[in-house]
Amino acid sequence: MNKLWIQLTVAFGLVTLTGVLIVALLTNMQVSSEFRSFVAQSQVQGSPLLSELSDYYAQHASWQGAETLLREFTATRRGAIGRGGPSIVLADSSGHIIYSDTPNQVGTTLAPADRAAATAIPANGQTAGYLLIRAGAGGAMSPAGQQFLARVNRSLLQAGVLAGVLGLILGLIIARNLAAPLSRLSTAAGQVAQGKFDQRVPIAGAAEVADVARAFNDMAAGLQQSEQLRQHMIADIAHELRTPLTVIQGNLRALLDDVYPLEKGEIATIYDETIVLNRLVSDLRELAKAEAGQLELHMHPLDTSALLRSALAPFEVNAAAQGIAIATQLPATLPTAQADPERVRQVLRNLLANALRYTPAGGTITLSAAQAANAGWLRVAVCDTGAGIAAADLPHVFERFWRADRSRSRDQGGAGLGLAIAKQIVEAHGGQIGATSEPSQGSEFWFTLPIADM
Ligand code: ADP
Repeated sequence: MNKLWIQLTVAFGLVTLTGVLIVALLTNMQVSSEFRSFVAQSQVQGSPLLSELSDYYAQHASWQGAETLLREFTATRRGAIGRGGPSIVLADSSGHIIYSDTPNQVGTTLAPADRAAATAIPANGQTAGYLLIRAGAGGAMSPAGQQFLARVNRSLLQAGVLAGVLGLILGLIIARNLAAPLSRLSTAAGQVAQGKFDQRVPIAGAAEVADVARAFNDMAAGLQQSEQLRQHMIADIAHELRTPLTVIQGNLRALLDDVYPLEKGEIATIYDETIVLNRLVSDLRELAKAEAGQLELHMHPLDTSALLRSALAPFEVNAAAQGIAIATQLPATLPTAQADPERVRQVLRNLLANALRYTPAGGTITLSAAQAANAGWLRVAVCDTGAGIAAADLPHVFERFWRADRSRSRDQGGAGLGLAIAKQIVEAHGGQIGATSEPSQGSEFWFTLPIADM
């Protein structure tokens, strides 16, 4: 009983029933009153009363004494129409009531509606007065009249029942149609709650219901995506942890089994793997913190040029050793940035390390900074003439654990987390990060930082 479609059907049924009852009642009342008036009118028109009254006025030039005529008429005709009627009203040419068989009407004036309905009585070529016949209030009717009214009432009842049944059927169809998408939604929501995130509902029904269905599908898609991300992340973490662990385990086993001699060189290999493990774990911790919005930023105005130069300095020795030139394009005066210097250095370290890693000897790495196109922002860029990134790979470079060439990067210690962390740091500053690249030409990685209000 508390199902929506049942409640809607009952409501539709009740509304239809009430409407049909009211219409039937009003029609019944109207039809019987109109019918009585019609019968009364036709009796008067079929009687000599009108011409009698006309002759009377022609003879007497007044209505005085005309009551006798009317009383006679009433007395003879009443039985045919019923005890209640008809009621007869006679008014003079100016509408003053001279005779009425309804009490207290004599001396008053005919209402305009009554005057319009009344029959004019002609005498001497003028309107001498008005005769108004109204149906009586009720009482017994002639058997033919009663049969007529009974037939009308039966037809009304049949029409009412038909309308009621049609209303109920229509109500049932509409209610089922309204409730169906909602029950589909609730079934799908139940499935999602049990972890089946591939559930979708058809966008159907009224605009509001379709909106809810659309929102549900978006929500389910979002949940499915984050579940997939979660699963991939766990798989990636397990994969990344397994490699150094396998190396450590294998080397330790070899040392224990005397396959390798117990020498510092062998232990150093194992130690290097623990460094990889440690870096991976701390990167993961950092990323998790950043994604949870828990990255602590100590923002203050920074001398941008000085910060960029100090971040670049540690790479100069390595670059020189690899035969890579380092250039800067920093204007003489750069606006002061409002940022956390340690975090900005971390982003730069990652971009510069990548540039060094993917640029062959003879290449150039350029660090540049300038006011960004949108006011209030600084644009910092690290440009290299290295391997570049394929267009299909470019949209993925900021995803966690993504690497263009898994085996190669791992050899060099990268787990594909550096750019994901850089993105989180830049976005925590309110800035943007992006990359453009041309395979075998080089890449540009850029990010924006807010300019301090002075
Ligand atoms: P990783 O620790 O592997 O370097 P990153 O998140 O820093 O992880 O980079 C993700 C991937 O993006 C890299 O594995 C590499 O394939 C690609 N990449 C990043 N920087 C560059 C670059 N300057 N030139 C070419 N490829 C790059």
